[in-house]
Amino acid sequence: MCAETRSAAPSASLYIHVPFCRSKCGYCAFYSQPLREGMLDAYLTVLLDEIALWAERLGRLNVPTVFFGGGTPSLLPPDHLDSILDALRQRFDLAPDAEITLEANPESATLDFLSAARHLGVNRLSLGVQSFRDEELALLGRPHTARQAWEAATNARGAGFGNLGLDLIWGLPAQREGQWLESLRRAVELSPEHLSCYGLSLEPGTPLAEAPEDLRQLPPERELARMYVHTGELLEDAGYLQYEISNYARLGQACRHNQLCWDGRDYLGLGPAATSTLGHLRHTNPESLRAWTELVRTRQIGLHQRETLTPETRAKERLMLALRTTKGLDLAEYRALSGVNLLTSHKAIIQALRQKELIRINQGRLRLTRTGMLVSNSIIRALGFE
Ligand code: SF4
Repeated sequence: MCAETRSAAPSASLYIHVPFCRSKCGYCAFYSQPLREGMLDAYLTVLLDEIALWAERLGRLNVPTVFFGGGTPSLLPPDHLDSILDALRQRFDLAPDAEITLEANPESATLDFLSAARHLGVNRLSLGVQSFRDEELALLGRPHTARQAWEAATNARGAGFGNLGLDLIWGLPAQREGQWLESLRRAVELSPEHLSCYGLSLEPGTPLAEAPEDLRQLPPERELARMYVHTGELLEDAGYLQYEISNYARLGQACRHNQLCWDGRDYLGLGPAATSTLGHLRHTNPESLRAWTELVRTRQIGLHQRETLTPETRAKERLMLALRTTKGLDLAEYRALSGVNLLTSHKAIIQALRQKELIRINQGRLRLTRTGMLVSNSIIRALGFE
């Protein structure tokens, strides 16, 4: 039993990492591996043990949201998904209106699978489309076509999903603004409730980052800036509200799971590579199926290499996460957390950022403007880490 953890976390969101994909995309730095026979059954057995172990430690957690991420959770057979959801409902108190999200990839988002997932209680689908242009999908090493992505979104509606999110990537090598906006407009035609639009970053060690220079040459800064600003404008015109640097949603349809994490609430991560933050303790499961299995088997999962979050670390994280959202940072709350009054401690930099229209302060909150979001990392560093 872990009384220390139990008393700190009566309520937490759940993240379940499904570490399998049909093949590895060229830009991907997430922990996932190509699926081979027998892997899913072995994974399910260990995951159910991990759920049981955490229920012993934490008691009946109140769970407002569950998020199946990956990897490719749509590779789970429906009976595996059923077993996992059943275990969660038996061991924890899932809120009656719990948001249950599943990430899906077009090539495995069949009408049969999605209907089964919807029937089992999944009520939000996040579809990894990335682009509606086949040549871009090929460049990214995605195992599906634009047409399959369109069909998967249609399948989601056919299966009864009223809360559909599409994930897209912009700023691809050699991409022009018009090409990106063409994909974005196609996405909007599908009327999803939610859109995530991430700028491509070349992660060291990925095949794309190590491709010949002409294949990995990102668009120039000015083109990237135009893409970002015009993304926001196009989506606002189409009725979407930006609620985070890369996320847009119809009114009331923002992803609750992500919002809770960005608000600094507790979350329990299950599966290899999943991170948990419970009170002032944080741990990350090993990025290895074998090591994760061994730690669950020996009941050591989450107890080894735990990090204790100091009040200072928590305050910095609060600032970093809050400034990524359009709600911004509550200055009084930050002062209570950190003992720092940003308005006086960083007076000169705040004045300069306001003059350049990179930040706004009103009603006690500090927010980044859209132009500020383009250089968010520098602003966050200047306000929280210098
Ligand atoms: S589908 Fe997603 S998790 Fe899997 S390899 Fe591609 S980017 Fe990575």
